[in-house]
Amino acid sequence: MDCIFCKIIAGEIPGKKLYEDDELLAFYDVHPQAPLHFLVIPKKHIPTILEADAVLLGKLLAKAKELALGEGCEEKGARFVINCKEDGGQTVDHLHVHVLGGRPLLWPPG
Ligand code: 5GP
Ligand code: ZN
Repeated sequence: MDCIFCKIIAGEIPGKKLYEDDELLAFYDVHPQAPLHFLVIPKKHIPTILEADAVLLGKLLAKAKELALGEGCEEKGARFVINCKEDGGQTVDHLHVHVLGGRPLLWPPG
């Protein structure tokens, strides 16, 4: 499949991994937008949040939170983002949760 995140899962292209289990993978974003910027993805190819069920979404967010805590975000927090399709600014069509931390982030987005 021509999906860059599936290729990272398969080890066909490199990714700096932060966490891996049977269902989920977390790795650092190649173009970090903050001092800490990693992605949590399902290993199953699911294009967007719209195709994901509640159980998977719970696991993704719970893991994103756990890893953010492990990366030192407890005191100052972080941002947890899921972009969806065109209007949401999604550029990789494999569901992913962004976790950004290590600096104050602006709101609202542009
Ligand atoms: P989106 O815009 O779809 O929400 O986010 C996709 C993210 O994937 C972007 O932040 C982009 O930098 C990241 N990304 C795209 N290609 C690669 C890659 O090959 N490796 C890694 N580690 N991140 C990638
Ligand atoms: Zn994929």
